[in-house]
Amino acid sequence: MSDHDHDHEHDEFHNPTDSEIRAKAVESLLAEKGLLSTDAVDEIVDQYENNDGPMNGARVVARAWTDPEYKHRLLENGGDAVAELGYGDEHSARLVVVENTPRIHNVIVCTLCSCYPWSVLGLPPEWYKSETYRARVVKEPRVVLSEFGLELDDSIEVRVWDSLSELRYMVLPERPEGTDHMTEEELAALISRDAMIGVAKAGNG
Ligand code: FE
Repeated sequence: MSDHDHDHEHDEFHNPTDSEIRAKAVESLLAEKGLLSTDAVDEIVDQYENNDGPMNGARVVARAWTDPEYKHRLLENGGDAVAELGYGDEHSARLVVVENTPRIHNVIVCTLCSCYPWSVLGLPPEWYKSETYRARVVKEPRVVLSEFGLELDDSIEVRVWDSLSELRYMVLPERPEGTDHMTEEELAALISRDAMIGVAKAGNG
């Protein structure tokens, strides 16, 4: 974990997708219905937070699970590798993908604000932005993970990666056992946003 000099002046604009997504949401509503309701906009934003946004990351992970050369490129240079699949850049931030293994579990945070790999995960969930998560996951990651329902054996090393405005992380979860027969698309369906933040495992849960 780095001890970074985090410039908080970036807070108001380091997450430019909020306004972009809201604009898109408004656009599609106007197009479809010719009217605007804020509840409906919130619903669409929620969709980006929980489904559409993280699906980009899930496709990246599924590709990495099925194509070792792609996985290699992803771990070498996350930004270039996600761009191969058509996912946008992080506005000059670097994307670093960290791999979970049977011995190492990674989890991401932004301790000082809410930097997040939005090109692959969409909008951060509220809890990711909460002071509680940001402070506690660094001090007592195992306790926080267990509160998310993820109990890790003591033999597994937990690594917490602190994001910056210019450096974002994404977790490459482990491929669950018993998935050898699955297609890339089926695999993508097993990969949740939380698994790519590192507070859950990928899988049939
Ligand atoms: Fe931040």
